[in-house]
Amino acid sequence: MNDDTGREFPAHEASSGSTVSEAAAGAILTVDLGAIRENYRRLKARLNGVRCAGVLKADGYGLGAAQVASALAKEGCDIFFVALLGEGIALRKAIGPGPDIFVLNGLPPGSEPEAAAAGLCPVINSATQLKAWCETARGMGQSLPAAVQVDSGMARLGMAPREVEAVAREAGAFDGIDMRFVMSHLARADEPQQAANEKQRREFERLRKMLPAAPASLANSSGIFLGPAYHYDLARPGAALYGVNPTPGEPNPMLSVIKLQAKVAQTRQVGAGAGIGYGHTHHADGPLGLATISLGYGDGWHRRAASAAWFEGVQLPFVGRVSMDSIILDISALPAGRLGEGDLVELIGPSQSVDDAAGHAGTIGYEILTSLGARFHRRYIGG
Ligand SMILES: *Cc1c(COP(=O)(O)O)cnc(C)c1O
Repeated sequence: MNDDTGREFPAHEASSGSTVSEAAAGAILTVDLGAIRENYRRLKARLNGVRCAGVLKADGYGLGAAQVASALAKEGCDIFFVALLGEGIALRKAIGPGPDIFVLNGLPPGSEPEAAAAGLCPVINSATQLKAWCETARGMGQSLPAAVQVDSGMARLGMAPREVEAVAREAGAFDGIDMRFVMSHLARADEPQQAANEKQRREFERLRKMLPAAPASLANSSGIFLGPAYHYDLARPGAALYGVNPTPGEPNPMLSVIKLQAKVAQTRQVGAGAGIGYGHTHHADGPLGLATISLGYGDGWHRRAASAAWFEGVQLPFVGRVSMDSIILDISALPAGRLGEGDLVELIGPSQSVDDAAGHAGTIGYEILTSLGARFHRRYIGG
C-alpha cells in the first residue's frame, strides 16, 4: 500500500491475533490441542476402526487450521476437509505434502490448475465440475484425486439425483479421476429422532451404487452418534473435535477445548440512577460496582447476546449494551476491590461452555467459535 508520498507501509500480520502479545491483548483465547486430540480419540473409539478425517473449514472453526491439523496428525489423522480452495492452499502450505486435503465447496471455474498444483482434492458437486476436473487431468496427462458428493436430501451441495443418473450413463465421465470417496451430508444429524436421517441414508445408498465403486462417507460429528449404519468408510467430524456437543439435549460426550478470558480495563463505582453504556439502556438501582472489559462485538461477541462473565466462579452480569471493544459488568457480587485493572474474567470456560454462550446468543456453538475475533492473544496448550 502506498500513500501520496510514495512511502510504503509494511504489510504485517497485526490482524492475526497470535501476533498480539499477552501483555498487549485485551483478551486471551486458550486453545487446548490436547483436548482436541482426546476428542478425536473419543470419536475414533465410537467408529470402531472406521477412518476419521478432521474438518478444518473456516480456519479450524476459528481455532487455527494449521495448529489443529498438526495436533490431529499426531493422532494419525491424514485426511482433512476445508470449505474453500483458498483455505486448502493455505493449509497445504502450512502442513506440507502428505495428508489429503479435500475442498468441500468444490472448485470455482478456472481454478482447477491452481488446485492441482497445490495437490488438493476437490469435492466434485456437479457434472460441470466433474468435466472440468477430467479435462484438467487430461491436460496434465495424469489422473487426479477427487471425492464426488451427491445430494441425498439437503439441497445444498452435491450432484442432484438426476445429475448422478446422467453422469452414470455417460461413457468415460470419470476418466482421469482417482475417485477417493463418494460422499453426502446429513441435514438433521443432530436430531436422531428425525426420519430424514434414515431417508437420506437410503438415498445415499441408492445414488452411490450408480457411481464407480469408491469408499463412502456420510457422517459429520452428530452423524457418528446415529450409529454404525451411518459410519461407512470415513467419518468427517468438525464441531465435536472442538468441544461442541454433537448430541444436543444430552450430556456432552466431548471435552471442552477453549477458554476465553477478557481483561478488566477499568473499574468504577456509580451511584443510584447512573445511566450505563450506549443508549443508557440500564440505570443503576442503587450504588453499583462496575468493571469494563476489553472485549466487544468487534471480537465476535454479538451485541444481542445477553450474557455474563465469571470470576472465580462468581457470575458477573453484563449491564447496558455490548460496545465494539468493551462490555460493562456488574461486579457487586464481589467484595469491593477484589477485581482490578488487568485481571482476567472468563467468557468461555468451566463456568460457561461454548454451547452455553451460544444459548445466550440465540445461536449454535459453531457460530460462537467461528466468530471468535482476530484481536485475541492466542495461546495453544497441550500440543
Ligand atoms: C461442516 C461439514 C462437516 C463437519 O460437520 P460438523 O457438524 O461440524 O461435524 C462434514 N461434512 C460436510 C460436508 C460439512 O460441510
